[in-house]
Amino acid sequence: MITTTRSEELFERARKVIPGGVSSPVRAFGAVGGTPLVLESASGAEVTDVDGNTFLDFVGSWGPLILGHAHPRIVQAVAETAARGTTFGAPCPLELQLAERVTGMYPGLDQVRFVSSGTEATMSAIRLARGATGRELIVKFAGCYHGHADHLLVSAGSGLVTFGEPSSAGVPAAFAELTLVCDLDDIAGVEQLFAKRGSEIACVIIEPIPANNGLLVQRTEFHERLRSLTTEHGALLIYDEVINGFRLGRGGAAERFGITPDLATFGKVIGGGLPVGAFGGRRDLMQQLAPNGPVYQAGTLSGNPVAMAAGLAALDVLEEEDGWKRLEALGAGLEERVAPLLAKRDWTLVRQGSIFWMSLQAGAAPRRADAIDAGAADTYREIFHGLQQAGICIAPSAYEVGFLSLAHTEAHLDRFASALSGLLA
Ligand code: PMP
Repeated sequence: MITTTRSEELFERARKVIPGGVSSPVRAFGAVGGTPLVLESASGAEVTDVDGNTFLDFVGSWGPLILGHAHPRIVQAVAETAARGTTFGAPCPLELQLAERVTGMYPGLDQVRFVSSGTEATMSAIRLARGATGRELIVKFAGCYHGHADHLLVSAGSGLVTFGEPSSAGVPAAFAELTLVCDLDDIAGVEQLFAKRGSEIACVIIEPIPANNGLLVQRTEFHERLRSLTTEHGALLIYDEVINGFRLGRGGAAERFGITPDLATFGKVIGGGLPVGAFGGRRDLMQQLAPNGPVYQAGTLSGNPVAMAAGLAALDVLEEEDGWKRLEALGAGLEERVAPLLAKRDWTLVRQGSIFWMSLQAGAAPRRADAIDAGAADTYREIFHGLQQAGICIAPSAYEVGFLSLAHTEAHLDRFASALSGLLA
């Protein structure tokens, strides 16, 4: 049995001064039960808790750590840059370098602006879409998460196309009404919505590979039709690549599907583990932003040199080490080992590059949020705790994906598969 006494003590103290003891809700282990591990340090593919237990980690801080924890190049870039000033509130060369780098990598990214989180990126992109089109309605998909801006905290009711209901207290109904929710993998629903209200729709925002409610891989035809429908109706297509961007490859999901969105949003990998987000796209749209245009958007710490240096270091190492190819090979290695274990129970391993999700329900992997069997969460809970006892961390929720990094090795994959095999025996 792993002892977690110190984690329990600290978490108890944290609950007195931090709501739920956490700075972001899913960390509280509500979905799996038990006390969260309070982490003290991390290196490569491993994290160490305050009781001195070390775990093989497949959470990777929810996606940013594509090189693994505390990669020497990131640590060096951060330390050297910080020594020359952490923030200037003025233009800096590192921000220019990262902007030049990413605009050269992602399809249709003429210009980019940096922010400090994925939430800010999507919130700003939507404001820009509304400002540029002069329209107010936005369309999102049930099960896609785009951060916690008011108008994006809206999930679907059932049915073909429903008007948005707020999914958080504190979101005014008047905001939620401007967000229309469609189902993934249901192009007819989107077509009907556009037939009715197409001229009022500013944008469609989608995680092109939805990874916040399982991993709901969409058909290419679905993406192609979203592209043509938005164009036909003068609405913008926004790809939320906060998870996929610079992880699946240089050009994210856009490159994978061969589709260029009008705007795209980024986070996680682009910041090398520091708080960074970005949004960008077509020049004529980005020119609508202040100071050139009427759409206001700003940030005290946006584009600060330390965060920019970390992002650049992450991209440098990915390029130098053939990172995306290696991550694909690691992903394939994981699939080879884990898919057959799951298949014995008619379950599926869903994988896109270095992102994976265990679909713990019989039959084909789901493509839309309401096709996920809620009962799978009970099974997941057991697997989660079983793996933790075996010294392995996966995300504390059945709906969250796992991430591989360049610090993972074939031996780590063997360890994961062997522990899982023991649990499923
Ligand atoms: N969009 C997507 C697709 C995300 O996965 C997330 C966070 N997981 C966000 C936006 C919000 O990013 P942040 O948590 O940095 O605000």
